[in-house]
This record gives sequence, structure tokens and C-alpha cells, in this order.
Amino acid sequence: MTIFTKIINGEIPSNKVFENDNFLAFHDINPKAPIHILIIPKKEVKDFQSADAKLIGEMTLFIHEVAKLMGLDKSGYRLIANNGKDSGQEVAHLHFHMLGGSKLAWPHLVDDTDTKKFF
Ligand code: 5GP
Repeated sequence: MTIFTKIINGEIPSNKVFENDNFLAFHDINPKAPIHILIIPKKEVKDFQSADAKLIGEMTLFIHEVAKLMGLDKSGYRLIANNGKDSGQEVAHLHFHMLGGSKLAWPHLVDDTDTKKFF
């Protein structure tokens, strides 16, 4: 069980944005943008790679609703799903980070020496 399951169960408080029977959106405790929301399935799925198309399809509709609720459908947003070791995923429960509320930068690499390795 991860910390996100405890949030789903209400054992740990969270600043909820929106929820339905299957998904929950809440503010990240350590925001990296003016708006930084985590969107998770209530079902335990460890990461994006383990998720099936039905779940991701339903989650997409939920994410669209969260974006509308926050006005980000108009201003724009970034969606990130860290997956596994190299991504720095800390919580082994599928989640999308929704970032917005300001112009976002595009830095990703800890070390950019590998940038050209696949070209
Ligand atoms: P990851 O690195 O796994 O993609 O992202 C995990 C995110 O969960 C981090 O951005 C971190 O700030 C957030 N987080 C970790 N613990 C809690 C918590 O107890 N409450 C909330 N709201 N966010 C959390």
C-alpha cells in the first residue's frame, strides 16, 4: 500500500480538487508550478506501463474535467506520468502530474550527455 492509497481511504488528508467513483485529483504537497495537481485511479495500479487502455481512456475523460475545473483547458497545462526508476517516480501508484498556471520551462535531464544517444 502506498501513501496514495491512504489518501484515497482518507487516512491521510489531502487538498482534493475533484473525484468520482474511480479517480481522485488533489493538490501536490510540494508544488512545482502555481497549479500542480496529482490525478490518480482509486484502483491500485503501480505505474503507467501497467495500466490498461480502458483505465487510461476513462482517466483521460477525468483529466479533461479537472483541466476545465481549473481553467487550464484554456490556458494550457503539462501532463507528466513518471514511470519507473530513471523517471524518478517516488510513489508506486499510477499518477499524472498536471502542471499549469504559468509559462512552463522544459528541463528534463540530470545529465545531458546522453541526449543524442538514440539519433
Ligand atoms: P512522483 O515522483 O512519484 O512522480 O511524484 C510523487 C508526488 O507525490 C510528488 O510530487 C510529491 O510531492 C507528491 N506527494 C508525496 N506525498 C504526498 C502527500 O502525502 N500528499 C500530497 N498531496 N502529495 C504528496
